[in-house]
Amino acid sequence: MVHLALPGIFDSVASLQAFVDAIPCPVFVKNREHRYMLVNRAAADFFGIKRDELLGQDDRERFPESQVTEYWSKDDLVFSTGETNENEEDLTDRAGNERRIITRKSLIRLAAGDELLVAVITDVTEIRQAEAHNRYLAFHDQLTGLANRATLYKRLDEILGDPQPTYPAVLLIDLDRFKEVNDCLGHLVGDELIQAFADRLVALAGDKDLAVRLGGDEFVLLLANAGDTEAVCALILDAAHTPFSVGGSSVTIGASIGVAKSCGKCGTRNELLRRADVALYRAKSLGRNRFALFSPEMDEGRQIRMELEAEMRQALGDFSQFELHFQPQVRSDNGDVVAVEALVRWRHPRLGLVAPSRFIPVAEETGLIVPLGAWILEEAIRQVKPLGLGIRVAVNVSAVQLRQAGFAEHVLQTIARQDFPASLLELEITETAVFHASKSEIETLEGLRLQGVRVALDDFGTGYSTLSNLRQLAVDKIKIDRTFVKSIGQVADADAIVRALVQLGNNLGVETTAEGVETEEQRRLLRELGCTELQGFLIAKPRPLAEIEPRLQDEAQKLAS
Ligand code: C2E
Ligand code: CA
Ligand code: CA
Repeated sequence: MVHLALPGIFDSVASLQAFVDAIPCPVFVKNREHRYMLVNRAAADFFGIKRDELLGQDDRERFPESQVTEYWSKDDLVFSTGETNENEEDLTDRAGNERRIITRKSLIRLAAGDELLVAVITDVTEIRQAEAHNRYLAFHDQLTGLANRATLYKRLDEILGDPQPTYPAVLLIDLDRFKEVNDCLGHLVGDELIQAFADRLVALAGDKDLAVRLGGDEFVLLLANAGDTEAVCALILDAAHTPFSVGGSSVTIGASIGVAKSCGKCGTRNELLRRADVALYRAKSLGRNRFALFSPEMDEGRQIRMELEAEMRQALGDFSQFELHFQPQVRSDNGDVVAVEALVRWRHPRLGLVAPSRFIPVAEETGLIVPLGAWILEEAIRQVKPLGLGIRVAVNVSAVQLRQAGFAEHVLQTIARQDFPASLLELEITETAVFHASKSEIETLEGLRLQGVRVALDDFGTGYSTLSNLRQLAVDKIKIDRTFVKSIGQVADADAIVRALVQLGNNLGVETTAEGVETEEQRRLLRELGCTELQGFLIAKPRPLAEIEPRLQDEAQKLAS
């Protein structure tokens, strides 16, 4: 309660008005009927209403009805209790601007016994906006406006903590080939692509689902109901694979999805996310552009792979557990050996001889293929060169190696160091790797070919190449995949496919090697179909070089005589 006790100073309304006008924040005085008795300049400015229009008037017709109700209830409270009241409230000024204010009101009892209230306003609009913005930032991804990891955690905790739980599914999505787009077309285009994908993801999400960007090219769609998971996954894969028009070009990527469905037992949020991660890993290693549902066996597989990885790291210390076997490739017309393909083996102390199909994928996923591949190249040349037979050595190169900066230089240095002719080295790259290769990777291969190194397309027929994109990459040879060779003479289609592949090779003017030739019948048919080279168990199994050397020497003699 305030007692005015300054006689002589505020003896005129004018001097009182001058005094309150000097206060730099909005101040006003109201009576019990909510009429304005005094309004300072700051208040009139703040309301955007002339002082004369307010004095003697109340709030009605000046402010929205809901605001008036709130203001008046606080006025009444102050008059009835005599206590100061502080209230945060909205205010819409004359121009329609929305403000957020804190109004403090207290009672003034005048000498005559009249009661008034005096109010002071603090404008907190900017503060509240900044707070809201910070809150938004804390729970959203800046680039896409999607929810972020924190929101995902919060939502999952809420769902899983609900006494009547629903059964959500976590779809962990990773874009395939995003890195290439980013590297080749730049970060701005990469950002554009992320935004465009986010838009598509949001369009697929239902009202109760949550679309999240975890960071980079990783997204989550939290499905409130796991019921339609498979259908939604298919839609996401489709959305990711539909070309994006970004940075003035059309870009095609894909996605891999790992799915974990909550089952009541798998309990915590972290467990659910871990399972989605394990499933994603599986989807990727199955060749991307697909989704995988978590199953408990995946955990076991992962455990074994992790062990294998740790042991491989150790074995790469001196490479003594690795060895190379060589398999001849012969001409189909006269059987002359034209090349030997180096195939790596791992003599594992506990598991025995481990097949490359088991450990190469692990080496690729972990990047260990890079040091291993370097050793294979070095070792293959080291073994084959002293034979002095002038036959080629074919070495398999993984997509991961090709992606390494400086790969071409590394290959050229290796052959230069061993003084091995470039024309006798053939790098085998799978058709799928070439199909997915970036521009710079294609340039790497072209650079090597310019130096005389040969390039063969491995496992041909299993990928998606078309004649037109094959023409873009000049290769020296295509190797028709074993699966087709296996079926010729048995499945009518197979003959037609092999014939078409051989024809394709002829059109491109390159050699065609058939892989996995096991029977005389196959050899005969392949020769008829025009295949120029053959490789397979019928001719020779992959063996250590010392074991096939006599045969290679015979060949050389035969050639010489
Ligand atoms: P690939 O490059 O297609 O190698 C040919 C595979 O077919 C070899 O299996 C070989 O043993 C097998 N093979 C050859 N002839 C026949 C046949 O008549 N019948 C049957 N059933 N199989 C035959 P391997 O050595 O187990 O290698 C499997 C795959 O592992 C290779 O397929 C290649 O993709 C990868 N790999 C092997 N060595 C290396 C390497 O040094 N580096 C890289 N990056 N990958 C390698
Ligand atoms: Ca090969
Ligand atoms: Ca092959």
